[in-house]
Amino acid sequence: MAIGAKPTRSLKVHELSLVQSLLTIIDEQAKEHGFTKVNQVNLSCGRLSSVEPAALDFAFKTLANNSICDQAQMELTILPLKVHCFDCNQEFTSKDADPTICPHCQGDQVTVTEGWQELQLLELDVD
Ligand SMILES: [Zn+2]
Repeated sequence: MAIGAKPTRSLKVHELSLVQSLLTIIDEQAKEHGFTKVNQVNLSCGRLSSVEPAALDFAFKTLANNSICDQAQMELTILPLKVHCFDCNQEFTSKDADPTICPHCQGDQVTVTEGWQELQLLELDVD
């Protein structure tokens, strides 16, 4: 038996602060454009970003209460990786977090060039 190994639910401070700043941005947009209700929030982030989709979802549901977004659906699009192949000098996209083979030439000299994009607000559907 492990003494003191309490099951702790880690606080997703990162996602909470992301959602907090997102809601601030949306509030500012609401004042600027005069909408009072948000139906849907479309977000994106890179496959390798530090955003954890489940934690983000939880943070959004928690913080959106009592905000202009309390009825809103949140949709997160995970952007695929961009990968460069040194064997054939071509680029490809990959949904794999750790691509090792180039689909063009089957070479294995590949390196990820894009995939760390942090959370971005793509689109709001509002009333
Ligand atoms: Zn290749």
